[in-house]
Amino acid sequence: MELIDGNQIASAIIAELKAEVANLKGRKPCIALVRVGNDPASLSYVAKKEKTAAEIGLTSRIILPPETVTQDELFALLDQLNADPAVDGILVQSPLPKHINEVAVFRRVSPTKDVDGFNTLNLGKIAQEDETGFVACTPAGIMELLKRSNVDLKGKHVVVVGRSLIVGKPVALLALQKKAGANGTVTVCHSATANLPAITRLADVLIAAIGRPEFVTADMVKPGVVIIDVGINRLPDATKKSGFRLVGDVQFPTVSKLASKITPVPGGVGPMTVAMLMQNTVKAYRLQTAH
Ligand code: NDP
Repeated sequence: MELIDGNQIASAIIAELKAEVANLKGRKPCIALVRVGNDPASLSYVAKKEKTAAEIGLTSRIILPPETVTQDELFALLDQLNADPAVDGILVQSPLPKHINEVAVFRRVSPTKDVDGFNTLNLGKIAQEDETGFVACTPAGIMELLKRSNVDLKGKHVVVVGRSLIVGKPVALLALQKKAGANGTVTVCHSATANLPAITRLADVLIAAIGRPEFVTADMVKPGVVIIDVGINRLPDATKKSGFRLVGDVQFPTVSKLASKITPVPGGVGPMTVAMLMQNTVKAYRLQTAH
């Protein structure tokens, strides 16, 4: 069994981006990070993105609207950032307060600055295989992990469990694309799928994006399968200082014995998300400045 090391692959991408940015003439690519309120998870996510941006040599602009910000005020802020030629990428950190319609906010970000890839147009561009779009960071990260682990999906049966807009659906479309590394035969499963284990057992590559701790067990996979575990779940654990431990959607100790390659949790898909955000920001800069 080979471990697909997301930390190592993300570090390599960050180093490549750093070299690329160092060679850019003129101003550096700039990402605007919008964090509403003080949600503790958002605080740490935005801090990590700011730190990685600085490491690569990107400029970041942190905007901190209060928890009480109205949707219209947020729209006005995004309109301003959309129109600002010095800003290449815009990220609105999720989750947003309950009184804000998150999807409407994501749609307000200009498609050309949508480095999170949540805008309707960018999702459509994946279906059309239009390379000028932005692919959401987690599905982009999954494809990059596969590519850099020499897993070619051509001729393989790829089973995706989960059909969310941020992971399951886009990764299924990417695996299906008619291009090098992709060309998979894709099955997408969800909570209404009948006899799920019979389908997952057919998978050459299994992508689990379910949000249920250790849901995929050894009896649900075939020997030699490649496993991408997207899930991040907290299980209570009194032996840990934090009081919990992180597990994926796959029961790692048993499934890893059968898999040919597998991502761990943590340290698999997770680290790729920030790396792909940075890659999207450099791409947005190039598209905007024609560099
Ligand atoms: P969602 O809750 O939006 O989607 C979960 C999907 O799993 C749904 O399509 C749901 O089906 C399906 N599902 C739920 N229960 C079952 C079941 N019993 N059998 C089959 N399918 C089921 O989650 P996300 O896609 O946003 O995230 C999935 C996981 O990935 C989470 O653990 C999340 O924390 C993690 N994540 C990790 C990221 C990373 O950077 N590593 C980034 C984003 C997410 P239905 O549509 O029918 O409800």
